[in-house]
Amino acid sequence: MKIADALKAGPCYSFEFFPPRSEEAERNLATAIRELAPLAPAYVSVTYGAGGSTRDRTHDLVVEILRDTGITPMAHLTCACHSRQELVDVVTRYRDAGIENILALGGDPPADSDQPPGELKYASELIDLIRGVGDFSIGVAAHPEPHPHSPSIEEDRRRTAEKLSKADFAVTQFFFDARHYFDLVESLRVLGVDKPVIAGIMPATSMRSITRMSELQGSEFPKDLAAKLEAAEPDGPEAVHRVGVEEATRLCRELLDGGAPGLHFFTLNRSMATREIYEALGL
Ligand code: FAD
Repeated sequence: MKIADALKAGPCYSFEFFPPRSEEAERNLATAIRELAPLAPAYVSVTYGAGGSTRDRTHDLVVEILRDTGITPMAHLTCACHSRQELVDVVTRYRDAGIENILALGGDPPADSDQPPGELKYASELIDLIRGVGDFSIGVAAHPEPHPHSPSIEEDRRRTAEKLSKADFAVTQFFFDARHYFDLVESLRVLGVDKPVIAGIMPATSMRSITRMSELQGSEFPKDLAAKLEAAEPDGPEAVHRVGVEEATRLCRELLDGGAPGLHFFTLNRSMATREIYEALGL
């Protein structure tokens, strides 16, 4: 199933996984997939380690998901540290394995990577390369807040509009205030692009990890959300988790009520928060 077609049929709910690095992590992921499969996601996606050691594992996991679960998979793919020919080879392997969806990304190689930067620099160049190999449904990343390396929000919106006009849909970086999402969608509309923008959801269920990830991605961590999580901390991790799920549910409702065409849950290979939000939303 092409994600572009699924989006035409109504809101799409999807889950993101990363390739496991140990046997225990493999078991955790298998459990998460088993527990999330009954929620019948429109698709699940698998991240790609730009410049890292998990590249083949992304391919294998994407192909396994299609073969073993029948759930539509989307492979993330990044320009970073790859030659043009290597990218053509990766995309060709996906095409030949029956994979129909790719998320085209610039990529963030690890800071200590000793690999060359790569022949392509931006996601928009990767879209052209993928289109040259096969008939894929292509997604791109969008950054509501905007991308941390952008010189200005206007420049980032313009670049996002440029690449989204060539792709089929976008998936956003996570954010905690729906206004960032609606501002992005409106800016793209003004720039003449109205392709579907799926909202990325990261439930803030652990104070420490969410603060670190927000800093890395340039996502503002609102003071009132931080205050609610801090107030729950003395009652233990379960209380913090509960508040994080409630707040994420409220954000999801606001996004769906405002017309978001889909929600993409960054699951971190765990199922609990996503299942609880699904139940609270009555999906
Ligand atoms: P790009 O479109 O490549 O743009 C990057 C920056 O360059 C932006 O500031 C943009 O405004 C600017 N720019 C774009 N085009 C041009 C141009 N022609 N000239 C000048 N400037 C330009 N990273 C991974 O390594 N692996 C993953 O699996 C992964 N999955 C992700 C999933 C989602 C949903 C999201 C939102 C992000 C993901 N990322 C992943 C992170 C992503 O790779 C980083 O944000 C990366 O720094 C930029 O890639 P991009 O595709 O978002 O941006």
